Amino acid sequence: MKLTDNVQYVPKIGVKRAGILFAELKIKTVEDLLMHFPYRYIDVRTFYPISSLSDNMPYVQIKGQIVSFETKGKGRGKRLVAEFTDGKGFMELVWFSNEKYVTQTYKPDEEYIVFGKPKRYGAIFSMAHPEIEVFKGNNPRADIGFKTMYNTTETMKNHYLNSSVVRELIANLLTTVQLNIPETLPQYLIDKYKLLSRAEAIYNIHLPHNQTLLDAAIRRLKFEELFYIQMSILRQSVERQEKSEGFVMKHIGKHFNDFYKHHLPFSLTNAQKRVVKEIYTDLKSGKQMNRLLQGDVGSGKTIVALLSCLMAVDNGFQACIMAPTEILATQHYNGISKLTQNLGININLLIGSTKKKERIQIHDQLENGQLNILIGTHALIEDNVQFHNLGIVIIDEQHRFGVAQRAKLWTKNIQPPHILVMTATPIPRTLAMTLYGNLDISVIDELPPGRKPIQTYHYYDNKRKELYKFIRRQIEQQSQIYVVYPLIQDSEKLDLKSLEDGYNTMCEVFPDLTIDFLHGKMTPAEKDDRMARFKNGQTDILMSTTVIEVGVDVPNASVMIIESAERFGLSQLHQLRGRVGRGADQSYCILMSSFKLSDNSLRRLQIMTETNNGFDIAEADLTLRGPGELEGTAQSGLPFDLHIANLAQDGIILQTARDISKQILERDPHLENSHNTIIAQRLTELNRKEVNWSKIS
Ligand code: ADP
Ligand code: MG
Repeated sequence: MKLTDNVQYVPKIGVKRAGILFAELKIKTVEDLLMHFPYRYIDVRTFYPISSLSDNMPYVQIKGQIVSFETKGKGRGKRLVAEFTDGKGFMELVWFSNEKYVTQTYKPDEEYIVFGKPKRYGAIFSMAHPEIEVFKGNNPRADIGFKTMYNTTETMKNHYLNSSVVRELIANLLTTVQLNIPETLPQYLIDKYKLLSRAEAIYNIHLPHNQTLLDAAIRRLKFEELFYIQMSILRQSVERQEKSEGFVMKHIGKHFNDFYKHHLPFSLTNAQKRVVKEIYTDLKSGKQMNRLLQGDVGSGKTIVALLSCLMAVDNGFQACIMAPTEILATQHYNGISKLTQNLGININLLIGSTKKKERIQIHDQLENGQLNILIGTHALIEDNVQFHNLGIVIIDEQHRFGVAQRAKLWTKNIQPPHILVMTATPIPRTLAMTLYGNLDISVIDELPPGRKPIQTYHYYDNKRKELYKFIRRQIEQQSQIYVVYPLIQDSEKLDLKSLEDGYNTMCEVFPDLTIDFLHGKMTPAEKDDRMARFKNGQTDILMSTTVIEVGVDVPNASVMIIESAERFGLSQLHQLRGRVGRGADQSYCILMSSFKLSDNSLRRLQIMTETNNGFDIAEADLTLRGPGELEGTAQSGLPFDLHIANLAQDGIILQTARDISKQILERDPHLENSHNTIIAQRLTELNRKEVNWSKIS
């Protein structure tokens, strides 16, 4: 049998089951079925005595009897509890549903094997929703080693395609059918990295003989998966580089020098200097730059953006900076205009609310080349905006933009401009390498000098009185305060309500202070006005929804209070916290939450109080949430399914896979050497499978 054969020809599958497998799990071919890996391995070599159980044990099997059933708890806590004994110790089996089925199926005094993950509650261990089998004398699987568990769906279960059946079908296929599983990695890699062959790996991932072989199988398959992802990304970028020449910006000219020598308001940090050099190296290289600039909030990315624009201007090109919100675009415009007021360059702002008359003027100046730098929002990528010679595009807070929007800017010229995307959401390395694998990465890993680390505290709601005292003390020390309320999805009314209630309370508690509020439903002019008043120091406390999240810079604000902090994701909390700590004063971030916190929410708030480092937070976020849900990347998502590799855990394998891919492509960019033919073939095959690599950009 070949891997490309339709799965319906696999023994015991047939047309009907094949239909279900396809509808439910997109399994179409023999290969798809074999790539449906177990999600769990239960050690079935021994029966574990209850007395030997401990925390952090994997899934285990225990042999024993049910003593009695009892229903405990009320409402959502209601559960069926079975007392279970192996003759010496006791433990509990717990079900939160299917009570009737369980009590009718399992009888006291019958000998069972239960499979599950033991969890300790006080002195007693319990197992939730265990898998149970009747014990039929001796250990039936002692020679197999592991019982594998496969993901299935409700529909599959209703059609007798549960985990056990899937296990049998695959085991049967692997043991009774003559299968041809061709190798997909070149022999020199297999030898060098001591990998299992693909056939061995696939066999052992489903039917592992022992832990060593299982580990080797997992390693080989993870490597293969990550290797081909990296290979695809990197080969694409080789092709693009060959095709697209970049504008050559060799001169460090008048504007750059004038600004650098006379108008720079501070000296650059070493990290900023390094990044500016990296960008310059790209700009003069003749290749199109595609660079991601990561730098924590407040690390000073804006000035790097401006310096990059000046390099373009000095070489006769136009530059544009795109920001995700009007507030932010306007702030960039104001800041940059002020910094460059004596340079004699022409800068303008284009946002949704720009008046028609002004718009027309901007369009004209763009087309005839009078305008040097254009700053704006999405309005920039509207189709009627034409540049005279756009040389560089800088995208701020890039994760906020959809891929399609970004791609649109690429096509503003016949020759693509240099691209610098900036993000304050530090992306863990592993994710960056897969999501943005074809971008070069620069990092500003140093904050400007003189900043005191922000102190972060978590208060439960009952500490509100103390919070008010704290606010009072801070105001007495002349600082300004932000209070932020979460967005509750699909319920803008409720959002405004909690903001409004909070505002009213605050006004009652502090009748002598100037308190203002801000939300997304206001007109841009209104928002700007209120923001400006806060910036000027006219307002003491600014209460808002998350509209102030990105990039807003008010150095005198030194307290950030986040209401219902448990509703925010880690990276968003970190972004919000980054609004303070920009001046010389000690800054604080107070996370308010209710008492009812899930373990996960509590952990998030703890992490916030423990570290200010954006990269640590991003790593923690990745582990807590899993890569697919990582904040800020959800909209781009992973453009491919990972069958086995885990970006949160497999950083080392990923790095190796990336390094190897790079080496191979450096020596053989078109994969023409005979020993790489196998790679070229596999890439073509994978591309045919509709993996959309172009979604990565
Ligand atoms: P972000 O990376 O979050 O966009 P900004 O560019 O807004 O950061 O910079 C944050 C603040 O730090 C701004 O007020 C900016 O003027 C200031 N800043 C940037 N670089 C330096 C530096 N090298 N020394 C002192 N202050 C700096
Ligand atoms: Mg910024």
